[in-house]
Order: sequence, then structure tokens, then C-alpha cells
Amino acid sequence: MKTPGRTPVIDLLRTAPGVDVTAKGWVRTKRGNKNVAFVALNDGSCVHNIQLVFDMTHFSEEELKHVTTGACICVQGTLVASQGSGQAVEIAAKKIELYGVADPESYPLQKKGHSMEFLREIGHLRPRTNTFGCVLRIRHAMAYAIHHYFHQNGFFYLHSPIITASDAEGAGALFQVTTLDLNQPPRNEGGEIDYGQDFFGRHASLTVSGQLEGELAAMALGNVYTFGPTFRAENSNTPRHLAEFWMIEPEMAFYEIKDNMDLAEDFIKYLVRYALEHCMDDLRFLNDMFDKELIQRLEQVCATQFVRLSYTEGIDILMKSGQKFEFPVSWGVDLQSEHERYLVETHFKKPVILTDYPKEIKAFYMKQNEDGKTVRAMDVLFPKIGEIIGGSQREERYDVLLARIHELGMEMDSLWWYLDTRRFGTAPHSGFGLGFERLLLFVTGMSNIRDVIPFPRTPKSADF
Ligand code: ATP
Ligand code: MN
Repeated sequence: MKTPGRTPVIDLLRTAPGVDVTAKGWVRTKRGNKNVAFVALNDGSCVHNIQLVFDMTHFSEEELKHVTTGACICVQGTLVASQGSGQAVEIAAKKIELYGVADPESYPLQKKGHSMEFLREIGHLRPRTNTFGCVLRIRHAMAYAIHHYFHQNGFFYLHSPIITASDAEGAGALFQVTTLDLNQPPRNEGGEIDYGQDFFGRHASLTVSGQLEGELAAMALGNVYTFGPTFRAENSNTPRHLAEFWMIEPEMAFYEIKDNMDLAEDFIKYLVRYALEHCMDDLRFLNDMFDKELIQRLEQVCATQFVRLSYTEGIDILMKSGQKFEFPVSWGVDLQSEHERYLVETHFKKPVILTDYPKEIKAFYMKQNEDGKTVRAMDVLFPKIGEIIGGSQREERYDVLLARIHELGMEMDSLWWYLDTRRFGTAPHSGFGLGFERLLLFVTGMSNIRDVIPFPRTPKSADF
């Protein structure tokens, strides 16, 4: 279907001159003199602007007075070959309609090169900058590519719930969901809050992961994936954590850990290649403005085989590195971003998949190895980011899983349904979680996760 009433700029720039066209969009800049005015118009369809040329013998100063940075206009004119060097075509304007003014005294986006911190303060307007236009278009392309990849490989999209009553997933702190009156919650005899009277008849929260539900579906459909919002109330103000983020979680019946690694590597490479093939204009802009090695880094990831090694080998390398880390390393510690990045950026200079972590630092559902100490976990570690994927082969043996749940003193009554997968037709299976915004950090080269999601939710911040 054609865009009604106008031609998007992305299409105008590919059209041969000589036709009458209508363009609608927001003014980026205006310059000129008494005889001619040049307006750069952007409509978000691509990073490029279309140049509008106003012959001032046909327009009054009054007509163009409010055509200032940020204003929204509709222009009719003829597409002509451009005299200037920046573009192939431009619009010789014949008629202009002003949709919305943007008072230069108060419109905050007057100049180029605002800091990312400043733009976060005007998060409601930052989509109008080139940078966020690029990021949001790439975000869209990646979401599309994710569905495409799975669809093409026979995976089914599973909508896992956002509200859940299983507090046992252990992936992070929970946001409660309640309709109880916080000033006067009902209490039982012992004085504890009586969640039996709450909306769901029990304590409920926002999901930290769709994995457990994904496992249920994988035991029926074979290969599934979830792709939805995920919530963690960790008070971690880092450039890699959000309180609300999106996660992609494939879950596959009959996959062993090696198959899981192969899928993770193929999947990420597909997405990066997709960005290189479909988002080059936006990538080039980000490459030139923020990160001169961005495109090269993306190409490298597609071309290299990821290193695969065990946690134990990784710890060995870190201990022998002679490097001073803020958090000291020994067998058994959870790896920090500084350790992950040392392995990836300094030691191997390639993405790394680390496997077989100590069971104490990993979740209860991971398959235990024969050594009694490690589990079949796999984390994919990336340059500039650290952990981008966390996954594992799942413990499919009922007795072993139950013993582990008891060992950890976990509450059983919210997990009975999960255990039923192991009681009825259990199967070897695996899966992983890719943080969508971590992927976008890598693909866009942005350095703060707040800048790759339209409306970031972080501690003390949920305004817009
Ligand atoms: P980290 O150690 O970096 O905090 P995690 O081990 O808690 O992450 P997992 O539970 O393994 O994370 O979640 C799977 C993936 O989800 C991670 O590899 C990461 O890409 C992403 N992720 C996890 N927590 C966050 C968060 N708070 N904000 C954004 N992405 C996240
Ligand atoms: Mn993890």
C-alpha cells in the first residue's frame, strides 16, 4: 500500500526527477538569503533529509517565518536534480502548509551534537534526533529479523505471561503485582499480609523470564521462542541493566548443550549480518558519529568462529593474566563484566562462549555434570558488553532436579507445574536468553543501555 497523501523521504531520494511530489515531515534546518531558502526536511523514514528549495520570488517572508527547526510542514513541489553536492534530488517547492510550529525560544533541539545525558532528560523528544532515529529503526529491523530467523527455522512464537505467581525462578528481584490497599493490607493471624485476598489469590509479580513457560511449550511443540518484556527490580545502576528490558528466549526439545551453542552463534551472526545488509545508512551514521570501529566490529563478528571454553579454563586464563581486577578471581566466583571483557577483548579478541559453570552460581534448572560440581551452563560473552546471552541445557531428570530444589530450600508449591514436565514425557532440552537491548548495544555501538530502548525504566526513572 502507498503511504497516503505523501511520498516518504526514503522513496523520494530514489525517485527520478521530473515528477510532482508531496512531502511531509519535520524541519531540521533552514538557511538561505533574500532570494532563496533551503530547508532540510526529515520524516523518519530514513536518516537522510530531503532538501526543499524555496524560490523567494514566489513565497513571502511571512509564509516561511514559522518554518523553523522542529516545525512540521507539508510541501508540494517538483522533484528536480539537485544543484548541490549532498543529494541527487531536491524539491523545488510550490506550495507549503504549516502543520505545527516549534517556537525557537522553547524547542530544545536547536543544534546538533547534544550529549546523550541531555537527550535522556528530554526523552519525549529525543526520537526526533538523527541518533535516535537510527537506533529506533535498527531496533525495529532487529525485532523483525528475530521473528524471521525463528520462523524460517521452524520455531513457534510463544507468548509467555507477564504476570506470574512463580517467585522461584531465581533470576532477579521481583516487582510485585497487587491490588491490595498498601495502607491497610489484610493480615492473617500471624500478622503477615494475606495475599489470599489479593487479586490472584496469591502473591504475584512481573515476570523475570519466560523460560519456565517456554519449557512447557517446548515439550509439546518442539522448538519455541518467547520475545517479550521482562522485569527485574535489581537496584543496579549500570550501563547494561534496565528494570524493564526485552528478552528473546528460545527453548528446544532434544537439543544438547553443543546444539544450544551452535544455535546461539548462528542466531547472533544472522542478526548482525541482517543489520549490515539492511541498516547500512543508519550504521554508517552511528559509525561516523560515535564509534569509528562499529561496522568493522560487526563484520568481524560475522566472520569469526566464537571461542568455546569451560569456566574452569576461563578462570585459569584470568588468574594467570597478571591483570589487576577490581573483583579478584578464583574458581567459584561469579564472573564480573571486567573479567568477561578481558577474555573477549584482550585475551581472545573474539566472542567467547563459556560453559560448565559451578552449580552454586547458576540456576536450579541447569543440567548437572558428572563431576558433581558444575552444570551445563553457557554464557555468550561479547566485546564491549560482556554477557549478552545466558543459557543452558536443562536438567530433565526428575529425581536430580527435585533433589537440587530441596538442596536449595526452594518453595515447592509454586513450581509443581514445572516439575510435571519432568514427570510426564521428559526429554533432553536446552535454551537460552538473549537480552534484546544488549544485542542493540552491540549492533548500534551505543554505550549506555538507556539509549537503545525508547522509554528506559531504571531506578528512580519512569517519567516517559
Ligand atoms: P547479568 O549478569 O549481566 O546481570 P544475568 O546473568 O542476570 O545478567 P540472565 O538471567 O542470564 O542475566 O538473563 C539472560 C540475558 O538477559 C542476559 O544475558 C542479558 O543479555 C539480559 N539481561 C539480564 N538482565 C538484564 C537487565 N537488567 N537489563 C537488560 N538486559 C538484561
Ligand atoms: Mn546470566
